[in-house]
This record gives sequence, structure tokens and C-alpha cells, in this order.
Amino acid sequence: MTSLIVDKRDHIGGNCYDYLDSHGIRCSKYGAHLFHTQYERVWEYVKQFSEWVPFDHRVRGLVPDKDGTKRLVPIPPTQATVNELFSENIDSEEKMQAWYDAQRIKPPTGEPQNGEEAALSRVGPLLYDRVFKHYTKKQWDKYPEELDASVLLRLPCRTTTDDRYFGDPWQALPLRGYTRIFENMLLNDPNVAIRLNVDFFDAREKGLLPKYKLLVYTGQIDTYYAAMGMPKLEYRSLRFEEEYVEEPEGGFFQEAMVVNHPWHDVPFTRIVEYKHMPIQPTAVRDGKVKGTLIAREYSSADVEPYYPVPNPSNRALYERYAELAAKEEGVAFVGRLASYKYFNMDQAILNALEMFDNLKETGKLE
Ligand code: UDP
Repeated sequence: MTSLIVDKRDHIGGNCYDYLDSHGIRCSKYGAHLFHTQYERVWEYVKQFSEWVPFDHRVRGLVPDKDGTKRLVPIPPTQATVNELFSENIDSEEKMQAWYDAQRIKPPTGEPQNGEEAALSRVGPLLYDRVFKHYTKKQWDKYPEELDASVLLRLPCRTTTDDRYFGDPWQALPLRGYTRIFENMLLNDPNVAIRLNVDFFDAREKGLLPKYKLLVYTGQIDTYYAAMGMPKLEYRSLRFEEEYVEEPEGGFFQEAMVVNHPWHDVPFTRIVEYKHMPIQPTAVRDGKVKGTLIAREYSSADVEPYYPVPNPSNRALYERYAELAAKEEGVAFVGRLASYKYFNMDQAILNALEMFDNLKETGKLE
């Protein structure tokens, strides 16, 4: 079986694409990607294509305390976050639990119906206002009440001092970057050909594609059905403002790889500093590169889609597209944009592996 990969961009790897910048710092074109998974199958799969360096991602947020002074605190909230912001002295899980219990607001219908109810039922109004409400407005241009509960529930809520961003058993970064994984998967395989700078729809219309038995489509599902004239699905995009900072004090611009800016006084949502990643080339890790590269992340409604926007109206519209997709012969819709699901990297990989199983079982692959 031979495969042809068609991508309208000038590189492989989709939004995982990373590269070395002019100073030799490994950075991501489409924002930081932190691999984490609870699925052993996914972990075993990705290990075939790279060595992985364990990395527990820790995020800090610059958040105003009760007097309005900005403090750098762990996100998701831990005992330290609450102590710093609200002058508490919590030093046990029991005390933290009691603080949450006093704060939490039960959702009116028992289960949280939207992002606001989800956050209020987990952390209460104080943390909701400091950490979630305005960040979410900046990220989605919607307040949490306009989004599904699942969006806000992505972040864990801790009673412990564990300040890792994710709780999964496997958390690691690929030693030579993500692009290398895709190269290892594809470039040495004589049965795979790649055409870059080719728009699939354009090539199909002009009859430039070879005959194929199966199309694995990873673009936006509503673009695939554009001719049907149905309303468009909503997506959120990102814009990155990169800055190379020459010789910052101590070698770094900020304390952590990612610092969130949940407050509404700045327009960006977070700042990523790539130098903190343990998968930098040796020269960077050895301190031979004196400067540091940062990227301020702004959310936007630009055309390049990064995120589906999970809420009831988009879900209902997606269901109409999914009905068409279910009837489509010879096409597999895979990944975040084609499934209109807020997949993490590992969920996208699992989605592809399960799709593969399914195609095999139903005899749709040779
Ligand atoms: N979120 C927030 N404050 C934060 C971090 C996250 O309000 O400091 C909310 C926000 O709505 C965000 C969602 O939680 O879109 C999921 O955050 P995550 O870090 O998983 O987003 P991603 O890395 O996928 O952009």
C-alpha cells in the first residue's frame, strides 16, 4: 500500500512543527507542545519514533493578590496559590479541602452546564475571578458561561502541593524535537510520498491527485463540506509575538517555561520561554547561547484554525457535519479539526490509531 501526504504548508508535522531559530534555540512555530498521556498504547507508539526526555511541565501565573499586587503563583491552583493570593496559611490537604468546601458553589442543576458553573463548583468565586474568568475571555473571546464545562475542566484542581500542570503518568518531550518524529515516521518509508505547498481541494479540482482508495482527511470538517452551504463552524486562532532577549539576568527571561497572564490588564494570555525545555541543543543547554527566545501568545479570530470552540451551538452544528461524514464512503476524518474535538496531542494520536484499527477490521485497508 502506498500513501501520498498532501499539505498546503511548506513543512510536515502540522501544528507540532518545531525548528531551530537563528540563535540555535529550538522553538515551535505554532506554540509550545507538551506531550503527556495516560494511554500506554500511545506512549508505546510514540517511543518508536524518538528518544523522550522526562519533563514535568510546571506553569506559573502572574495574578493579583487580594491587595492587587501581582504575584507569581502555581497554576493550576495549589496550596501555595491560595496562600499567596489570599494570605492564608494552608499546610495540609485537609485545610485546603476545607478552603475549597467553603468557597465552592454547587451548580443549580447538580452537574455544571457551562464553564462558569464548572469553575465555580471546583474552586469558588475568588480563584475563578483571578485565574479563569479573564484568561478565558482573552482566549476565546467568550466568558466561561458561553463555553462547555469541559473547557474549564481541562485544568486539574489540587488540594496537594503538586504543582505539575498535568497529572498523567507519562510526561516527556522528544529529544530532537517533534519535527524529527514526523521525519522518522515518513522520510525513510519508500511507500510514503509527500507533496508540500499543495492545497488538497485545489489539486482535487484540477484533477492533479492520483487515484486513491482511501482519503484520510485532517482539515476542518466544514471546509470539506463547504459546497453544501451550511453555516461555518467556529474556530479560535493564535498569534505569536516573538522576541529575542539578549543576555537576561541569570540567562532566563522568566521563572518557568510558561507563565500565564490571566489578568485583563495585558492582552496576551501567556509567555513561553523555549530555553527552559530540556530538549534544547547542547549549546543552549550548556549556556553557550546567552540570549533567550520568548513568545507572547495572543488569541485571535484569524483564519488559521487552532482550536474548535466547544459550546452547545457549535456542537449541534458539528453533529450535522458528522452525519454527512458518517455516510461518506472512502474518507476517514481524523484529528482535532476533522473531528471538531479539543484533542490533546495524545488524544489525537489515539484517535488515529483507533481509526486505523477500525479501517483494518472493516476491510477498508489492504
Ligand atoms: N484557563 C484559564 N486560566 C489559566 C489556564 C487555563 O482560565 O491560567 C482556562 C482557559 O479557558 C483555557 C482552558 O482553561 O482555554 C484550558 O487551558 P489549557 O492550558 O489546557 O489550554 P491550551 O494549552 O490547550 O491552550
